[in-house]
Formats: sequence, C-alpha cells, structure tokens
Amino acid sequence: MIRNNFDVKPALVFWELTQACDLVCKHCRASAKKYCDPQELSKHEGERLIDEIALWDGPMLIFTGGDPLKNQHFWYWLDYARVKGVKVSVTPSPTPLVTEEAVSRMKSLGVNRLGLSLDGAYPKTHDLFRGVSGSFDRLLDIVGYAQQVDLSLQINTTLTRHNIDELENMAIRVKRFKAKMWSLFFLVPVGRGEGIDLFTPQEHEEIFDRLYWIKEKYQLPIKTTEAPHFRRYMMQKKRGEFVRGRGTGDGKGIVFVSRLGEIYPSGFLPLKTGNVKTDSLRDVYSNAPLFCSLRDPDHFKGKCGCCEFRKLCGGSRARAYAATGDPLESDPHCLYVSAS
Ligand code: SF4
Ligand code: SF4
Repeated sequence: MIRNNFDVKPALVFWELTQACDLVCKHCRASAKKYCDPQELSKHEGERLIDEIALWDGPMLIFTGGDPLKNQHFWYWLDYARVKGVKVSVTPSPTPLVTEEAVSRMKSLGVNRLGLSLDGAYPKTHDLFRGVSGSFDRLLDIVGYAQQVDLSLQINTTLTRHNIDELENMAIRVKRFKAKMWSLFFLVPVGRGEGIDLFTPQEHEEIFDRLYWIKEKYQLPIKTTEAPHFRRYMMQKKRGEFVRGRGTGDGKGIVFVSRLGEIYPSGFLPLKTGNVKTDSLRDVYSNAPLFCSLRDPDHFKGKCGCCEFRKLCGGSRARAYAATGDPLESDPHCLYVSAS
C-alpha cells in the first residue's frame, strides 16, 4: 500500500510550551493556570523535540499554551528552531507581554505566522469571553504591531452561542486585519470547554450556510477546526468541484505535544500515545496503532465509516471520543447521512 504523506509526516505540530497564562477564558482547552508546571519540558528536552521535527523537514511547529511567552525558554527555542530550519507559528495570549518589541523580535527570529484570538466583534463580547477587560483593545494593539513589521496573521475564533450573532461583524474585523487565515473552532467539550452548550447538528449546517456566504462575500480564507464536515458542506455546495484543503484531522496531519511531553493526536483528543522524553515523535506519529486507525476512515464506525465524504471529512474524531468514548465512532454533530 502506498502511504500518503500524512501517514509519515504531519503538516502541523502543536507544542503546548506551558500551562501558564494570565487570562482565564471560559472555554480554555488547556485549563490554563497562573503558573508554569515544574514538570514542563526542560531546555534540553525542548531542543531534542525541535531536532526531531527538523528531521521531518516540512511541518509547521506551533508554539502554543497556555501562553507560550510565559515559558522561560520561549525565545531560546524560537531561535533554536530558526537555526534548525523549522518553521514556527506562535499563538500568544493577548496580554501586556506581547509588546511592540516582542512582536518585532518574533519577526526577526523568523516567526512564520502570529495566531491571535478574536472571540467577539466588540470589546464587551470579546472581553467577557476572555475573562479580562481590556483584552479586545490589547488585541487591536498587537494586530497593529504585526502589521508594522509585516508579520503574517491568523485569527482564531471559538464559536459559541454567545458570539454567533456577531459572525459577520467578526468577519469584517478579520478582513480589516488583513489576516491570511480565519480559523473557526467548533467546541469539543474538554478543559474548561466542558459543560458549554454545544451547537446541534442542525445549527452546524446553518452556521455553515452563513460561513459559506461570508466566505464568498468577503473573499476570506476560512478554515474550521473540529468541524471537518464544513469540507463536506463546501463540496456539496460546489457540486463536487475541488475543495481546497488537505483534509487534516486529529492524528492525520496533526500531532500535539503537551507541556509534559505527552503525545496526543490533537489537543482535543485526550488519548496519550507516548512521551517525547522517552519516545520518538516520528515513530509514534507514523506507527502507533491509534494514529494509524485515525488515518483509516474505511474503518470508522457508524455513518462516518460508510460516508462518501469520509476521506475528505471523516468527522471530528475528538468529538466522537468526547461523545462516545470511542475515537472511531461517528461524529455526533453532523447532520448528513450518506445514501450509500
Ligand atoms: S488565552 Fe488561551 S491559554 Fe490563556 S486562558 Fe485563554 S484560552 Fe486558555
Ligand atoms: S457522516 Fe461523518 S464523514 Fe460523512 S460528512 Fe458527516 S462527519 Fe463527515
């Protein structure tokens, strides 16, 4: 069997540098705390992780958290990755740590993209979501710093009932920010996101309708996280025309390394599959049975397993796991039922 590229190499490696963060967002996947965990990767362990990613030659390494800037080795590892030829994106928390000087330094150290969160079109909605007033204004400042040094921006938005009515106005903001990508995250109930009222399958379709319209109207590059059935929706809408995107999903083009070095298929699928302190990340990604099964949609269960869109979409494996305890089960938040 010829293995496709995602069988041997991910497109994105997320590395949670720390649990520390000065914000207290309601939906926080990382259940961020005020302080770093003493068990977080050491400077040398971080170097070894970057060395291994360099051997893959290609994936984007995303420094995430918590707030990656709260890790004392952040700047050292950023420079180390640059020297090793590893492309890096950074998703800082929008706090006073992200100064004009810090953004300029990131640019000079070769940061490929800055990921910033926008969770409301207006200060009131955004700040309520992030738990600290003034966060929205801080975000606008950071966007300005990035624009000054021509650092590429990705805007990340977590969609919930509290901001969904502002979808179009958030799109207008993203357009004004000149972001290279707008990534819309559909909640999986993990971390502080547990207990938040999720959209129903029908509501997902209605949001996809609006997203499709917004994408066309504003010519925005949009991708979804943990809602791969938007690709199915797009394919149906375009009547089978080629839909851009490489069909990534949990463990398929994506791998997540926790602050303790634990390896997961994504930050939303809490099935630990080794630790970079003792295991080879490349070996786990390519050969661990869990990762292999997540890349094999023909063996998914229920309606996802017999859906004609299973290779393009495949459903959110993290949401299937959160709902049923089985990552190979059907995504319960997809309305579509295949005729085949
Ligand atoms: S900024 Fe990010 S890491 Fe910090 S609390 Fe909010 S979601 Fe969690
Ligand atoms: S049934 Fe599963 S594979 Fe098919 S479109 Fe829905 S989520 Fe995707």
